[in-house]
Amino acid sequence: MASNDDRPTDETLGFDTLAVRAGYQRTNEGEHGEAIFATSSYVYESAAQAAARFSGDEPGNIYSRFTNPTVNAFERRLAALEGAERCVATASGMGAILTACLGTLKAGDHIVSSRAIFGSTVVLFDTILARFDIATTFVAQTDLDAWRAAIRPETKMLFLETPSNPVTEIADVAALAELAHAHGCLLVVDNAFCTPALQRPLELGADIVIHSATKYIDGQGRCIGGAVVGSEELVGGDVYGIVRTGGTSMSPFNAWVFLKGLETLRIRMEAHCRNAQRLAEWLEVQPAVTRVNYPGLTSHPQHALAAKQQTGFGGVLSFEVKGGQAGAWRLIDSTRLLSITANLGDTKTTITHPATTTHGRVDPAARAEAGVSDGLVRIAVGLEDIDDIKADLLRGLDLL
Ligand SMILES: *Cc1c(COP(=O)(O)O)cnc(C)c1O
Repeated sequence: MASNDDRPTDETLGFDTLAVRAGYQRTNEGEHGEAIFATSSYVYESAAQAAARFSGDEPGNIYSRFTNPTVNAFERRLAALEGAERCVATASGMGAILTACLGTLKAGDHIVSSRAIFGSTVVLFDTILARFDIATTFVAQTDLDAWRAAIRPETKMLFLETPSNPVTEIADVAALAELAHAHGCLLVVDNAFCTPALQRPLELGADIVIHSATKYIDGQGRCIGGAVVGSEELVGGDVYGIVRTGGTSMSPFNAWVFLKGLETLRIRMEAHCRNAQRLAEWLEVQPAVTRVNYPGLTSHPQHALAAKQQTGFGGVLSFEVKGGQAGAWRLIDSTRLLSITANLGDTKTTITHPATTTHGRVDPAARAEAGVSDGLVRIAVGLEDIDDIKADLLRGLDLL
């Protein structure tokens, strides 16, 4: 593509065009589909060229831990969709968070994080980073005063995920970006639930966006991968340096799956949102359901904020049923179509009991405070016919 000078530049192209065409450089073979570069290293024309590549004097491929054309194509395409200068792909979503932290923090620094974040991220902050003298204070996602009060002189990062899992609390990204910058901190937003098809945190003021590509970017539950997205200065410097030297790299095959996933991301997200909206509205009027959490419902306390910072309300919802844990388990065990698994972002609808799975290690008081009651069920709505999803749930709801 780069060889055709009359082609439009990326800045002039729309989201859907970038999703299909950005980032890939066609090889001499003239392939139309993007190639998978399954190679660990690259050959040079001379010793002098090898030296120039290694010293950085000449751009080009060196070794696939940190330079691979398929991985780079995925990085450029995702960066274009997030409206960012730079993206660095990683082996997993957790690898992306670790890489972003190692690249931007040092011993003695402090993180303020929403407590409503992915369970493994809590363990990473609380247990692993703590051993390297990086402390974390957890605060309520929606309480701006609590965020402000938790900031110390050594705070360097604010971290959140919005909407939160599983109760779909919305963080005010623009307000938290302003707070972060007033205190010289970075705002890091895990955008796995929305993807750039529904929410672009950098435009709202965030400094770094994290992805678990495992979820909607793949979209079909096949590969594990992640990404860190942001400015050339932040992400292209020390964050890339961690991938290069620390080796938290993405494989070319996975990069190819994610690269192709980006092409259909927008239409898939629209379909996930449509199904989730219909399911949420239907659940709200079921007698056995006492509460539904979905940002697309006007009953959601932050519906207006979600509508302001997202272009769609996402594919994940949760709801409380009568009968506590027994009721929730009865509903889950009555399904025949839905998959009983904790994964999300798949074409297949998944059903989870957070209190005994994803949040099972959280102590009961903290769990209750976070809204994860014993009767709470989470559904990541897939792309099946909505009437079949409803019918599958009705089997169990009728018993409660
Ligand atoms: C799954 C997930 C992660 C971790 O991603 P992996 O690819 O499983 O390592 C991080 N954040 C969120 C919001 C997730 O859903």
